[in-house]
Amino acid sequence: MMCPDHICEICFTEGFESSATLGNLLHEQSTIRAFHSSCMPAGYTEKNAGVVSLNPRIQEFLGTHFPACGTCGTSTPPMIKCSGCVHSFHRACFPMKLTEESKSHCESCVFDIRMRIGDEVLTEKDEIFCSGVIEDWNQNHFAKQDENFGKEGFASILFDGVGSRQILPINSLFRPYSRVTNIIFHSIKSMYNGHPQELENLKSMLQKIESQRPPVSRPIPKFQSISIFHSTIKELLCHDDDFLPNVKTCEDLLLKFEKNKGYGVFATKILENGCVIGQYCGEYISEKEKARRDALAKVCNDKECKFYSFQVKLELLNELQAQKVYVDGSSVKNITAILNTSCEPNCTAIVEEISIQNIRIEYIVIKTKRTIKVGEELTINYKWNSSFKCFCGSEKCKSPWKPSDWQ
Ligand SMILES: [Zn+2]
Ligand SMILES: [Zn+2]
Ligand SMILES: [Zn+2]
Ligand SMILES: [Zn+2]
Ligand SMILES: [Zn+2]
Repeated sequence: MMCPDHICEICFTEGFESSATLGNLLHEQSTIRAFHSSCMPAGYTEKNAGVVSLNPRIQEFLGTHFPACGTCGTSTPPMIKCSGCVHSFHRACFPMKLTEESKSHCESCVFDIRMRIGDEVLTEKDEIFCSGVIEDWNQNHFAKQDENFGKEGFASILFDGVGSRQILPINSLFRPYSRVTNIIFHSIKSMYNGHPQELENLKSMLQKIESQRPPVSRPIPKFQSISIFHSTIKELLCHDDDFLPNVKTCEDLLLKFEKNKGYGVFATKILENGCVIGQYCGEYISEKEKARRDALAKVCNDKECKFYSFQVKLELLNELQAQKVYVDGSSVKNITAILNTSCEPNCTAIVEEISIQNIRIEYIVIKTKRTIKVGEELTINYKWNSSFKCFCGSEKCKSPWKPSDWQ
């Protein structure tokens, strides 16, 4: 798996710790995330040099939920209201039910998708959603005017048109995905009857976001328990993906939020050594397609594009050579994509294989590597390169870099 640490999560520039235009690469204290200083999400605290900690999310949302699904943009009932933020969503659009105390969390909350200064957002104001931009909250000219100024989990919004500012909880802000802007417009425009100026602002904001669409269209992420083939693999094999194994996801798991760490996967029962957690799901792509996606990721600023891939083998038994293919987890994923990393992991990725006719293909299953206690977090170890900066805090931490190096 490609370690995302040394790649800025937003602009995908890798290999250089700093860049003249983007600033230094800052490492998030307790996760494997990294951002350039100019790419940082809104709401963080500087720790040591080069180390930051993202402000915790406010975990409860009691306001008015956005009337359209954040994933597909339509507003067909029934929709689920996220307990942690302004998002509404369809169960089919985010079929991940594992969560604490029967609360429902949306994709953005589960995968901790953050907003940045400069992001265009919608927020509820007098019963309609008004458009605005997240701006730096450290400006003194309005500092003392709002009791929430500088509080963790809050950001300043500059509203379009009127030029008024307000300091609002970050979880009350809705940032539309570029791929569904037009659908959202048609889903919610009727609520702007009698507010022509706000409707005009909404329209120009959504059009602006749509124009930021990446040059090549990306599939909408799908949550499911089996992998799929990219069309080039189907062509190569002259076979559909219907023979890929359907590995059952372990049911004794719980998704839990931990401060400074985000979501993790925890055991609700004792799990024996070798217990299957699930299949690492993704889209099988060719080496050429992977190269194309890597190149695309580097030039495109779309925050929705992320590329984490496992390398596996695919063999046509009547040919001489096996082909390298990749399982790209950015478009199809399941619970295994949420496992946190550790230098003392209790789970491991096992490569298994399946044969049909003249095809032999490998797939990845995540299994426990020792007995897991009830309530214990499941972790995996990515294959770090030598420059990886790990913050796992384990005594057996394999990273050559240690946080104390900065003191
Ligand atoms: Zn790395
Ligand atoms: Zn960056
Ligand atoms: Zn939906
Ligand atoms: Zn949410
Ligand atoms: Zn470590």
